[in-house]
Amino acid sequence: MTETFKVGVLRKAIDVTGVVQGLGFRPFVHRLAQECNLAGFIANTPVGVTIEVQGDSDCVERFLERLSAEIPPLAKVASLVPRDTEPQSGTAFRILSNRLDAPPQAPISPDVAVCGDCLREMMNPRDRRFRYPFINCTNCGPRFTIIRDIPYDRARTSMAAFRMCAMCQAEYDDPDNRRFHAQPNACWDCGPQLQLWSADGSRIDLAEPLREAAFLLEHDSILAIKGLGGFHLACNARSESAVNLLRERKRRVEKPFAVMLRRIEDVERFCRVDDGARKLLLSQERPIVLLPNRPESGLAGGIAPRNRFLGVFLPYTPLHQLLFSSGKYDALVMTSANLSEEPIAIENDDAVRRLRGIADAYLVHDRDILRRCDNSVVRLAAGRPQMLRRSRGFVPVPVPLERDSEPTLAVGGELKNTVCVVRGNEAFLSQHIGDLDNLDSYAFFGEAVEHLRRILEVRPKAIAYDLHPDYFSTKWALAQEGVQLVGVQHHHAHIVSCMAENHLDGKVIGIVLDGGGHGTDGAIWGGEVLLADCADFDRAAHFEYVPLPGGTAAIHEPWRVAVSYLTQHFGAELSKLNVPFLQDIDPRKLQVVLQMIDREIHSPRTSSCGRLFDAVAALAGIRSTITYEAQAAIEFEMAGHDSTDDGAYPFDLTPDGPHWQIGTLSLFEAMLRDIQRQESAADISRRFHAGLAELFVELAENIREQSKLNRVCLSGGCFQNVLLFQLLIDGLRAKSFEVYFHSEVPAGDGGLSLGQAVVASYRSQ
Ligand SMILES: [Zn+2]
Ligand SMILES: [Zn+2]
Ligand SMILES: [Zn+2]
Repeated sequence: MTETFKVGVLRKAIDVTGVVQGLGFRPFVHRLAQECNLAGFIANTPVGVTIEVQGDSDCVERFLERLSAEIPPLAKVASLVPRDTEPQSGTAFRILSNRLDAPPQAPISPDVAVCGDCLREMMNPRDRRFRYPFINCTNCGPRFTIIRDIPYDRARTSMAAFRMCAMCQAEYDDPDNRRFHAQPNACWDCGPQLQLWSADGSRIDLAEPLREAAFLLEHDSILAIKGLGGFHLACNARSESAVNLLRERKRRVEKPFAVMLRRIEDVERFCRVDDGARKLLLSQERPIVLLPNRPESGLAGGIAPRNRFLGVFLPYTPLHQLLFSSGKYDALVMTSANLSEEPIAIENDDAVRRLRGIADAYLVHDRDILRRCDNSVVRLAAGRPQMLRRSRGFVPVPVPLERDSEPTLAVGGELKNTVCVVRGNEAFLSQHIGDLDNLDSYAFFGEAVEHLRRILEVRPKAIAYDLHPDYFSTKWALAQEGVQLVGVQHHHAHIVSCMAENHLDGKVIGIVLDGGGHGTDGAIWGGEVLLADCADFDRAAHFEYVPLPGGTAAIHEPWRVAVSYLTQHFGAELSKLNVPFLQDIDPRKLQVVLQMIDREIHSPRTSSCGRLFDAVAALAGIRSTITYEAQAAIEFEMAGHDSTDDGAYPFDLTPDGPHWQIGTLSLFEAMLRDIQRQESAADISRRFHAGLAELFVELAENIREQSKLNRVCLSGGCFQNVLLFQLLIDGLRAKSFEVYFHSEVPAGDGGLSLGQAVVASYRSQ
């Protein structure tokens, strides 16, 4: 049957791709279509939503304008393409239910901090959700951490256990309601509830567990709190004794704690906050942001000893907000509930078992956390956010890639592990998994791989892994069958990770300064300049090898590396050198280490820049042993921030065929002179950082001359060092290099899996 339509009637189909499902996008479009007097429908598609609207042409135009301009805050639209289509009959605008027939490939949204509307309701005594700790709507609340399977609807989340009451159901069914299809929708009558448990895990019968929890925090107790992605340990951040007690019980000697602050105004009292930082702190992702602290702020000194930065964040769940409004404190230490590098606890009973002797009480609830997800950590450097740990709030938002690839899985490295799945032209990085050298993390690694594969519905054709034969991730990859296996050199993966997030193709000069990774010659690399593209690389320059006496033992005892460098340069003269740090070393241990170096026993060779940092930090008297990863290098950097000296230590560049060797004899001679003159550690640190930056600028210039390449990529864990990062970027830009660095993905090993995946996809093409 043909119908006639009056002149001027238009029907447009609009395909919208991106993260648009379950975020209030469909009700928004519904409202907008009604306001513009349009008929049609909106439906979910495998990659987003499809909208068809029909009406007077000026109404359709107005709709299209407003659609682009008023997109709901949480939606991340990748593309929005209108096209003409044939008018049809019908006058209503309808929301079609989920297309369950189509392959459910639309991306899942990350967890989102509680929104302003929900907060206002929660604080309103007349609202039915007054003080309800699990209030949420389509604009906020848990997502990734409660999802069991796809497509995303309540039955496939940990909210399936809660049957909505009539009022919640009515909101859920009403397209004009803010809670239309809000899967975790709940209230006091039908949703999850809080409980307070004592130290032994027995339930304390209380009308208001929250007020009691706040009382405990006021009185210096240590409270385990179930959050969005796992348990955290909390205590009053102004109480020196509570912070010390937490350190003692958690056996965490000096590694800085993160602090949750009540309001943005409180952050401004404790830290120096600029506009960029304010935006990050208040973003829906609510990451921990590293900010320069104000030492006179009144926070316990034990929170971040000898560190000029403080990791702070704002409350991101309704429960956190209620904790702050219920107690007399404005700052809470909030640290992952685990022992050292184990994965964070997520189950109530498991938390009680693992936190025995640490927590005085447990604030728990009955909504299961299905996906463990630590807090994300970000800092601002070179005017951009720099991701240090990409987890809650960011996962599983994909990193867009330049080109399509076969489904690929990359299994990452060993420390700070993440895995990555590429589907089409998108790379999905997992949450932070941690260090794989313990059983629980290794189990979590397996779960994370499985979960990503399931929610993305891909069967990887290739698996990329690190060349280090002893990495657990490598062993896991090599045990997989029926799939192409691609080994990727560690530092090549770092550079390609940087290239991928900056959408670079072709060849670049890659400067990788890192703790260490397996080199193609079997040595531990980590101070490298590579000529790299996405498929392959040549090594253009590296630090001279030194023995690493004791392997990983040397990482925990930086003095060993200092001794190794001094022996390399001064041989037997070492004992005659007048350097104070040598006097503090047990002479028998020193003798053993000297023998190990001399006889090449358990002393792998390394060009690691991280180890060079350790050596100079020990030599400068900063510290000879460490209690957490990279502590010596971090404290050495902190010292350098306090100096305005404009000197720079020299390095020795020697051509070796088309390559360059970087020697450190001149560096150590100059440093020793300064130490004997009793120059300050601050000035020594500054001169080292400046020298390192000048060295790599000079190297880049030499390589540019040979290769005609002008693009420089920076990657590797050492670029978490802001002083080095800034000096090097400034130096390279002053010589007109195009400089690329990480922002969305960590420069350290947390970003390795992205680079591995991209290398594998280029190699298989
Ligand atoms: Zn909300
Ligand atoms: Zn309800
Ligand atoms: Zn690395």
